[in-house]
Amino acid sequence: QKEEWAKLKDEPTVTKDGHHIELVGNIGNPEDADSVLQHGGEGVGLYRTEFLYMGKSEMPSEDEQFEAYKSVLEKMNGKPVVVRTLDVGGDKHIPYLDMPEEMNPFLGFRAIRYCLDHEEVFRPQLRALLRASAYGNLKIMFPMIAQVEEFRAAKALLLEEKENLRKEGHEVSDDIEVGIMVEIPATAVLAKQFAKEVDFFSVGTNDLIQYTMAADRMNERVSYLYQPYHPAILNLLNNVIEAAHSEGKWAGMCGEMAGDPLAIPILLGLGLDEFSMSATSILPARTQMRNLSKADLASYKDELLAMSTAEEVLAFIKEKTE
Ligand code: PEP
Ligand code: MG
Repeated sequence: QKEEWAKLKDEPTVTKDGHHIELVGNIGNPEDADSVLQHGGEGVGLYRTEFLYMGKSEMPSEDEQFEAYKSVLEKMNGKPVVVRTLDVGGDKHIPYLDMPEEMNPFLGFRAIRYCLDHEEVFRPQLRALLRASAYGNLKIMFPMIAQVEEFRAAKALLLEEKENLRKEGHEVSDDIEVGIMVEIPATAVLAKQFAKEVDFFSVGTNDLIQYTMAADRMNERVSYLYQPYHPAILNLLNNVIEAAHSEGKWAGMCGEMAGDPLAIPILLGLGLDEFSMSATSILPARTQMRNLSKADLASYKDELLAMSTAEEVLAFIKEKTE
């Protein structure tokens, strides 16, 4: 099987009926980009930048961040690289950022909420990203967006720093797409409105599932509720993908669900454009997608969305793809 995968390393990802799918990798460190390339990734769909900040005693400087982002863009050599701005809080604690102890950190002061309130942390990251944009195909993504206002505020800061950098004589790319993670149900519900303003969506199912089902993603006692195939989740995903397409935007996924062989046929049928996963899942996913017809899977969509349980969804999709 490994040999079959290896043959597809430099092949595009196309379904049996000829649709191209963007198959990209998740990374946490610049070195991980090598692994994405070795496994035939067509780009980076999620660079989790918090690892630059974790396990250190002080903030990484703007220059230090610039070097990290630049090195990923250079390694990827023109392939798309989606960099997510700092997602602190929740389970990710960074001592020097002086974050409050909270009763419910997953529902608390995390990610974009923290960044918009701490421009002294956020602006250097935005500047580092903008400077790095001259070295490849950069896309910037904001995490944990719950309201349109948050996206607008973050984008305004980005544009402000772009102006500043240009005045200072730095080169900044003119076509950086700016998108959001969809990982809060409110945002998935309101995707149509968001789609008018963002350049793309990337669904963070790890969080979206826990918030939709109100089941802590790390609590085993409620893990039976943590159901990627639940029709409630599929209906949200469908809403996000349709909203994106109706505005001519693309929709991807960077949560674990994107690399799950049982979820892949469902997601193809819903019309997901980009799948971002751990490097080692890329070639198995490409192999699988080449054997699936997107049109056939799309024809099951209404039936799937009308189902009542995750069990029905799974049984149905297993039968159809056997
Ligand atoms: C997600 O929530 O699905 C996601 C990709 O982000 P993280 O796992 O870093 O919270
Ligand atoms: Mg998340």
